[in-house]
Amino acid sequence: MSWLTNFVRPKLQALVRRSELPDNLWDKCSQCGQMIFHRELEAALRVCPHCGFHMRLPVARRLELLFDEGKYNRIELPKREPDPLKFRDTKRYTERLREAQARTGEQDAVIVAHGGIGGMPAVIAAFNFDFMGGSMGAAVGDGLIAAARLAVLQEAPLIVIPASGGARMQEGIISLMQMPRSIIAVDEVKEAGLPYIVLLTDPTTGGVSASFAMLGDIAIAEPGSVIGFAGARVIEETIREKLPEGFQRAEYLRDHGMVDMVVPRGQLRDTLIRLIDLLRHPTPPAEVVSLPVTAGGDAHVPARID
Ligand SMILES: [Zn+2]
Repeated sequence: MSWLTNFVRPKLQALVRRSELPDNLWDKCSQCGQMIFHRELEAALRVCPHCGFHMRLPVARRLELLFDEGKYNRIELPKREPDPLKFRDTKRYTERLREAQARTGEQDAVIVAHGGIGGMPAVIAAFNFDFMGGSMGAAVGDGLIAAARLAVLQEAPLIVIPASGGARMQEGIISLMQMPRSIIAVDEVKEAGLPYIVLLTDPTTGGVSASFAMLGDIAIAEPGSVIGFAGARVIEETIREKLPEGFQRAEYLRDHGMVDMVVPRGQLRDTLIRLIDLLRHPTPPAEVVSLPVTAGGDAHVPARID
């Protein structure tokens, strides 16, 4: 028996497995339904080459995309007592946290990194949607405060990239307290006279959209991102009216003045470089040429034609 299970079965399994196709060779676009070769999709930064649909991008990939040469340093975030309310639904909150930590290799749903963007220092706080839907609990609040203080310390702009379903319900009122906390954090950056830029990605909803995410000096959004407070279905049922086409999408928000620009993923880095440069160096980039001085000592002023 042991010879069969220990030797023959693994050999057979290895033979069968080898003939199988890797299951990650093709991806399907959730908007147009087209099949896309996995490598091609990754090269296109997970933007569908057929319809331009922006699929969600893992947080590490996003940081690589934005920082110079894809290089950045992460800071360690303060550790705090998990599960202050001893919350339990179908599972214990501590268990959910442990699972998310094991799956993502991260402590919580926000990552704070600093590095150069176009040769200028910048601090980015990016949400990890894979970690409990990027929900905002106390640890995320701590992360945003740490990012804001780091930006002030380094005299660098703060860029926050939300990808979040909103407050973390397992932390109850403590998660709601992160709304004013995060607002105070980004205010510290503004008070220091530093730019605060928000890059809204899919999805930015709930308590996140109702706090720091809508307070950027400049609000950029990725095409097609869902950005809103309550879900469209809930609003429809409450007001008993049909909502307009494209409601709560990045483009709709731009057209109604809630977002400054909708920028395709491939142009995000260049856009950020241009914005940071404009905000940090407001003087004209061209050399100021003085007017030629005439023999009389006065600057030459072209004669008026009356
Ligand atoms: Zn598509």
